[in-house]
Parts: sequence; structure tokens; C-alpha cells
Amino acid sequence: MNKKKKAQKQILLVALGGNALIRKGEEGTVEQQFKNLAVPIRQIAMLSLDYKIIITHGNGPQVGNLLLQQDACDEVPKLPLEILVAQTQGQIGYMIESTLDSQLMDLGIHFTPIVSLISYVVVDENDPAFCDPSKPIGPSYKRKKDAPAGYPVKKTPKGYRRVVVSPKPATIVEKREIKQLIDQNFIVICCGGGGIPVIREGRAFSGVDAVIDKDLASAKLAEEVGVDIFLIATDVPGVALNYGKSDQQFLNTMTLQQAGQYLSAGHFPSGSMGPKIEAAMQFVRHSGKRAVITSIEEIAAAVDGKAGTEIR
Ligand code: ADP
Ligand code: MG
Repeated sequence: MNKKKKAQKQILLVALGGNALIRKGEEGTVEQQFKNLAVPIRQIAMLSLDYKIIITHGNGPQVGNLLLQQDACDEVPKLPLEILVAQTQGQIGYMIESTLDSQLMDLGIHFTPIVSLISYVVVDENDPAFCDPSKPIGPSYKRKKDAPAGYPVKKTPKGYRRVVVSPKPATIVEKREIKQLIDQNFIVICCGGGGIPVIREGRAFSGVDAVIDKDLASAKLAEEVGVDIFLIATDVPGVALNYGKSDQQFLNTMTLQQAGQYLSAGHFPSGSMGPKIEAAMQFVRHSGKRAVITSIEEIAAAVDGKAGTEIR
């Protein structure tokens, strides 16, 4: 690749959903997580030849598992959610980074620098979401009574799950650093689990007990660093109308206006597809560029406009 082409590389942000690591019905061992990760990361390694890459990721299952682990142990002090989110940025960042490193090597690409960044995301302390736990985390249970006792639980398409408060992301604290790294051709892994939620206290930040939605945080980041393509990878081929019903219909494209209408008509529930649509709409509205929602298996095809649902 010549210098000129390198200078013109567009920025692609890939937001990886929970199933990039743990698939439906799996126990979620470390071996399974590494094996699953190879699928999206192989494609991202190939895409890095043509695009500057930012990777963000969810942490719902992992942060929920950490909570279960600490609930099971009374010998050490309990950690607040913001610390557990930081832990998942470390564990998942490591897994993505090392998988990406080996996939790049397999392709004979030996000099692409990669960095995973502990990321803070500012939220508004007066966000009404603090009074209404809504974000599902941890395992899903067939029966409500099997879910962890003493915590709010909600029914999701995947079963009953524990829910935590999830304020909206206002700004990504490290946006300038991330932009600089991208400009220097680093592949950047950041905003894991939606970022560590913090509120401003004068010039300082302090962590809050919450989990930010990773799709909304990714959209904010995409806007703030000037991403060209915003891709959300999950466990369905794209966005459907009447999802799960006999007249379900997957869409190749949606305009902003159509997306808004379908959202109001109730096609996209708040715990799952809703935030992805909101995130995609927010990005398209602010940037005038395209967002794509697709499956983990079809990331590369979706970048080429051959898979997934495009919002523009
Ligand atoms: P992730 O972990 O990737 O964020 P989520 O479970 O939060 O995944 O969201 C993806 C899920 O959204 C799909 O597995 C599907 O069950 C659900 N879903 C709800 N409504 C729709 C829709 N209209 N089209 C496609 N999927 C939908
Ligand atoms: Mg989700």
C-alpha cells in the first residue's frame, strides 16, 4: 500500500456485542470466549489493511458474572460497579488485543500497533436513568425466581436478567488521545462495556455505580473522533420489523426517518435492539455518514454494503 492510500484511510468503528465472546447457550469458559472472538477479529484484521480501526465492546455477561462472583464471597470487601466495569475493560481488552495480534501475524502483518485503553465516560448526575434500573447484565434465567435474589430483574428476549442503572453517555474523556492514536495508525480498543461511568466534580472525575450502554457510548465516541463508518455487530443478521413474529422482515436499509417511525411503533425493544437503533440514528444525524447493524459473522460483508441493515 502506498503512502497516499494510507493517508486516505477511512475510520471504521466496530462495536462488538456480547456474543462476540459468549454465544447463546454457552457456559462462557475462557476457551470458548477466545474461540468465538477469532470470528470477528479475523475480519477486523483484514479490514485494517483498508481502514483505521476502533474497536469497542460490551461487557454485560462478564460484568454480571463478576457481580455473581463477589456476591458469593464475604471474605473481601465488595467492589462498586464502576470498578467491575474497569476490570472487564482489562479482561476483554486483553482478549481482543491478543487475538488481534495473532490474526494480524497470520496475515503477515507484523507492525500494526494495537492499544487497549481504560476509558472514562462522563454521565450527568441528574440523569433520570439513575432512578430506573434498565440495563440487563449477567446470565439470563428461564424463571424469574432463579435470578439473583434482592436485585431488580427484568424480562428480556433472552430470559429474566438482573438490571442496573444505565445513564446516557455525555462525552468520552479520552477522545483526544483516541483520535491521536488513530491518526498514528494504532488500532484502538476502547470504551469497553460502555466505558467507566464518571461524573464531573469540578476538574476531577468520580466513578458512579452504573453501566453505560456500549452502543450509545460508541455512537458518542464515533461522533467525537469523526468516524466514517459505525458498525454494530451482534447476534442477528440485521434489523427486522416484527422481530420474532411470523411476518418478521429483515431490512437492508432504513432512512433516519423510517428508523424513527419504526422505533416509535415499538419494533425495537429498549433492552436490546432499541439502543442500537438510537445509537445508529444519533451517529447518522450528527455525521451524515452511514451506520450498519449486522452479525458478528458478516462484519466484512456489511462494511462492503453486502450484509446487515444500513441506516443513512
Ligand atoms: P448485544 O449483546 O450484541 O448488544 P442484544 O441482546 O442487546 O445484543 O441485542 C440483540 C438482540 O436484539 C437480538 O438477539 C434480538 O433478539 C433482539 N431484537 C429485538 N428486536 C429486534 C429487531 N427488531 N430486529 C433484530 N433483533 C431484535
Ligand atoms: Mg446489548
